Amino acid sequence: MQKLAATNNQIIDPVCGMTIDPDKTDLFTVFQGDNYYFCAEGCREAFENKPLKYLKRKGWLGRYMDRLAKVNEKSFGCAGPKCH
Ligand SMILES: [Zn+2]
Repeated sequence: MQKLAATNNQIIDPVCGMTIDPDKTDLFTVFQGDNYYFCAEGCREAFENKPLKYLKRKGWLGRYMDRLAKVNEKSFGCAGPKCH
């Protein structure tokens, strides 16, 4: 009964935004106590050179989070949890 849902195990490559299955890659780095996984050695190198550049929620993830925030705004008006 120890069935792990693989879809819950997927992680976004912070450099290019690809979905990564951490069970299937050795390409990861540890930054500020968190593991980050990458699709390719080049992505890992780019991240290690400038990790903060890729942690500012830019690109795919940033757009996704922005969209979520907008949906929240529409649903809840200014009472939503994302409203500053
Ligand atoms: Zn990548």
